Amino acid sequence: MTNKDDSANQPVTQYHRKGFGLKDVVEVELKKVYESDLIAKLRASGNVMTVNGITIKLAEAFGFCWGVDRAVSMAYEARQHFPDRKIWITNEIIHNPIVNQNLREMGIGFLQMAEDGSKDIDRIGQGDVVILPAFGASIEELKSLEDRKCEIVDTTCPWVSRVWNRVVNYDKKDFTAIIHGKPDHEETVATASRAGTYLIVQNLAQAEWVCNYIVNGGKKEDFLARFDKAVSLNFDPDVDLVKIGVANQTTMFKGETEQIGKLFEKTILAKYGPTQIDQHFLSPGDTICDATQERQDAMLKLVEEKLDLMLVIGGFNSSNTGHLQEIAHKRGLPSYHIDGPDCVGPGNVIRYKSENSEQTETKELFFPEAGDVTVGVTSGASTPDQVVAEVLERLFALRA
Ligand code: SF4
Repeated sequence: MTNKDDSANQPVTQYHRKGFGLKDVVEVELKKVYESDLIAKLRASGNVMTVNGITIKLAEAFGFCWGVDRAVSMAYEARQHFPDRKIWITNEIIHNPIVNQNLREMGIGFLQMAEDGSKDIDRIGQGDVVILPAFGASIEELKSLEDRKCEIVDTTCPWVSRVWNRVVNYDKKDFTAIIHGKPDHEETVATASRAGTYLIVQNLAQAEWVCNYIVNGGKKEDFLARFDKAVSLNFDPDVDLVKIGVANQTTMFKGETEQIGKLFEKTILAKYGPTQIDQHFLSPGDTICDATQERQDAMLKLVEEKLDLMLVIGGFNSSNTGHLQEIAHKRGLPSYHIDGPDCVGPGNVIRYKSENSEQTETKELFFPEAGDVTVGVTSGASTPDQVVAEVLERLFALRA
């Protein structure tokens, strides 16, 4: 490691929003840890491979996205650039347990998040380095970090920043941001913190409920009780739903985001008429990131093939992985959301995240012990190829 750092006593917060020119240095290590010969072979053979009677069909697009790749690379570069400094990551750099474990082993500390979403930033000392994750950080969190005079490596994905720009623009025009996202997801928390006035809707059903309120009115208390943790301070549905713009968490299910955008547009059109629409509604544009869209499209294509079962690999708290699993589930395929090789076997059982978000284990043999079987496989945007390869090896071993 080379120490190019002479700023340990820097009195003010410094931001680094790019790498440190060490990409070539860390690339070798990153390839070794996260890439896989088996997956390279699978890609080269058209994403299909048969071993021991098991045919694997890999989705056309899967795994590490550009934004995650960039964030992990910046974290590795930061370790090289600041070899003697204490480095922290706020909660998780991406939602993948194996990547996070590797960073821990490099001596990077993780600031745990409490149930109320607060992070243990008291552990950060002046001059420490703090890495912000790909899904960004809230304005409040940035302020508290600045107070600690630490140095910040900001890996926020530019796709996430695009959504932030959109909600800031809504705020400037005095419009409320309707955010399609999960209220407790870090990205949505960060987006909401920039929005001024906001309302978060998680799904189409909630959006329909809000639209009904816009058109027909209702009890304000009911509204506020229903969206208790999903609105800005002093939100008043009778005032704050008059001028709205739609935004989204970048990893939501694309079809649903589009439906929600159209529903709000239709509702505002019905309420104010076509001549007034521009004064009351700002179009969301397309802010689902390319990577999420490509992985969802590839999954929609894969589930149309003849598959006996489907494995969706990614962190249990990874939103985009959850949406891939949702596609398989809606198609009626036996499918399992697993977070790594340890979920598979021994004893032909599989540990997976169930529909009600709990981790559970199959009680019966999940995998046919004989005969030909075709398994569809995909992985979320924060899952390294190496993890997918290890899952496949466990699967092949069931028939070894
Ligand atoms: S999933 Fe999209 S928004 Fe998230 S890090 Fe990857 S490219 Fe960026």
